[in-house]
Amino acid sequence: MRRHSVFVLLIVFLAVFLTAFAPAAAWSSPVTAAAGGVPGAAAPAVVREVRTLRAGTPEETEVYIVRASEPGPTVMIVGGMHGDETSGYLAAGEIKDWVIDRGTLVVLPRANADAIARGRRTSTGGVDLNRQFPVGKEPTTELAREIWAVVEEFPPAALLDLHEGWGIYGRHDSVGQTLITYPAGDARRFAEHAVRYLNTYHVKNRNVYRFRVVGTPVAGSLARKAGADLGIPAFIAEATAYRTLQSSRVRWHKAFAEEFLRWYGLIEREERIVPKQYRTTASTSASVSTSAGTPGGAPSAAPLLAA
Ligand SMILES: [Zn+2]
Repeated sequence: MRRHSVFVLLIVFLAVFLTAFAPAAAWSSPVTAAAGGVPGAAAPAVVREVRTLRAGTPEETEVYIVRASEPGPTVMIVGGMHGDETSGYLAAGEIKDWVIDRGTLVVLPRANADAIARGRRTSTGGVDLNRQFPVGKEPTTELAREIWAVVEEFPPAALLDLHEGWGIYGRHDSVGQTLITYPAGDARRFAEHAVRYLNTYHVKNRNVYRFRVVGTPVAGSLARKAGADLGIPAFIAEATAYRTLQSSRVRWHKAFAEEFLRWYGLIEREERIVPKQYRTTASTSASVSTSAGTPGGAPSAAPLLAA
């Protein structure tokens, strides 16, 4: 009896100890982490690895590789290609800490650390990182080559790149509030699903801010090269900075990312990482689903600016 209760105490102590130290240890690489929050819940373990690109240069930045114990597909999420599009790298900085149920998630939250430090679209010398990925050729800067080497190493089954537009597509000369889609595989079906989901649960003023599916990612962009060279679904999510809060833009990106991970099979559990913000009534939801996206047409082949 006595020995039994000492054993129970030891287990309780161990559990408390592990809970207290798990967050601090979460990024010593590699390490296992459990899904937090729910005591006693079956916690899927993930192993996290961190790598450094362009080490020792102003472009130095980290790639995070999150592996679930259950086998599954690999996908990649990128933020911070443009240094003045804050919500992309802030969202990706949270996404890298998510727990997935299957497969491998590769996250590059701050692709262009130099541009982020400058708070500008481009890096020192005016280089636009998202124009350095020509289709069928080697990327044109060292940073772009190191990023592409990561893409080729894994290679992902799908790629999502998080950006901001200054205006709203269709209202201004901007790609804000779009999911720019390279139409390989099931890309178009996912894009229409994701846009419908966001418009239903995350967009309050749908007359102005509803997301649309457009195509194709601009020439020189990472998404265009991934789509064309690897033949994979590739997307650029564009949240508008036009009279929106940064917190809304971050939430939109995280909602896109969660739907992306669910669609491609990395998240299976029911509970949401990004809680639904709004719930439409049955009648509104019907009108949203018929008006979401661009019914009838394939994504336009015209390249878009400012992605
Ligand atoms: Zn951008």
